[in-house]
Amino acid sequence: MTLTRRMMMLTTAASLLGGCVANPLDSLSQAGRNFITPTPTDLQPTPNAGYAQWVATFKNRAESRGIHPVTISQAFRGTGYLPGVITRDRNQAEFSRSFEDYLNLVASEPKVTAGRAAYTNQSRLLQRIEARYGVPSDVVAAIWGVESEFGAKRGDIPVVSATSTLAYDGRRGAFFEAQLFAALRILQDGHTTADQLKGSWAGAMGHTQFIPTTFAAHAVDFDGDGKKDIWGVDPTDALASTAAYLAEGGNWQRQFGIGCEVRLPIGYDGPSGRGAPASLATWAARGVIPVTQQSRDLGNAALMLPAGRNGPGFLISPNFGALLRYNASENYALGVIYLAGRLRGEGPIATPFPPDQYGLMIEDRRAIQDGLKRRGYDLGTVDGVFGRQTEAAIRAFEAEMGWPVTGQPSQTLLAALR
Ligand code: CA
Repeated sequence: MTLTRRMMMLTTAASLLGGCVANPLDSLSQAGRNFITPTPTDLQPTPNAGYAQWVATFKNRAESRGIHPVTISQAFRGTGYLPGVITRDRNQAEFSRSFEDYLNLVASEPKVTAGRAAYTNQSRLLQRIEARYGVPSDVVAAIWGVESEFGAKRGDIPVVSATSTLAYDGRRGAFFEAQLFAALRILQDGHTTADQLKGSWAGAMGHTQFIPTTFAAHAVDFDGDGKKDIWGVDPTDALASTAAYLAEGGNWQRQFGIGCEVRLPIGYDGPSGRGAPASLATWAARGVIPVTQQSRDLGNAALMLPAGRNGPGFLISPNFGALLRYNASENYALGVIYLAGRLRGEGPIATPFPPDQYGLMIEDRRAIQDGLKRRGYDLGTVDGVFGRQTEAAIRAFEAEMGWPVTGQPSQTLLAALR
């Protein structure tokens, strides 16, 4: 498999959430927010003659590759073309989130609190997984959090519908046909039932959002019941499969941690970036010091400055590459490092993020959202992250005030809303 597990989700956007995004956050948000009940009408099967014809020929191909006709008919029962899947696929990369926004979405304080409870509840399981695969328990738990909010949002779209719609659509047809075929294999092998085979709009499934081909290559039956069940409430197989994927697919090096936030000397202008790794001793000599003492060495570590030299910095170990294989976004991998630290009991980011392009800090953005909400504008959660809902609320407020309608935040807006 040359494609990484969720390569197709990297540039993903989440339109349902009220923001389309160009990073994994979005696939996360989608996984999270797509699945409001009842199912949106555009995610219900819709008659489509071209799709029906495509499915008929696909079924022949599947049968010729060894999928039993009974499996095929069970798999496709109740499935169909989902127009909303194509909309979401087309809406990708509309805007990209900053690292600060990303952290505020995947590792907000409520999520850290929920995550610490989940981490504690699953600590024995995570320790056994760590002993087997060498991937630290907090890393596996952090991925679980980022991917499905610790199992709360595992996805509710039938995988056969989603992947067949995308395979028929053809933009990445071969890729999704491979996913669809692997999904039928999962059913044929009896790991789950057609009813339970659900995931995100792009076919990522279960607690840690495996696509079907990654399931085929790396999923494990950790509890020994004969099924590799990553979809059910019990996260055992899913979390072990994630560790197995990092260990086998990502070449995880168990002697190293993943990374940590660091403090930089004021005015630091030394090396940074993945191309300039060095030992912790070398970094210390440059004045780059971990915010908290690390229990594992970081090996040949690189300095990452995701918000520039005036924002927080992170040293990353060679295991960063394994996280990128899981999801090829540096924001994603740094988000996992940060959330893992929070789950271990570490505090929030030590170095504040610099003001955004509007000169606003996170507190200012929250104050704007708060002010709009108090005036009756609906914008969802007050999280300091501006998506479509906040933009729409700003537009409405500007119109009400008789101001030019921009949808953009500003100091003037902040002052008016305080
Ligand atoms: Ca099992």
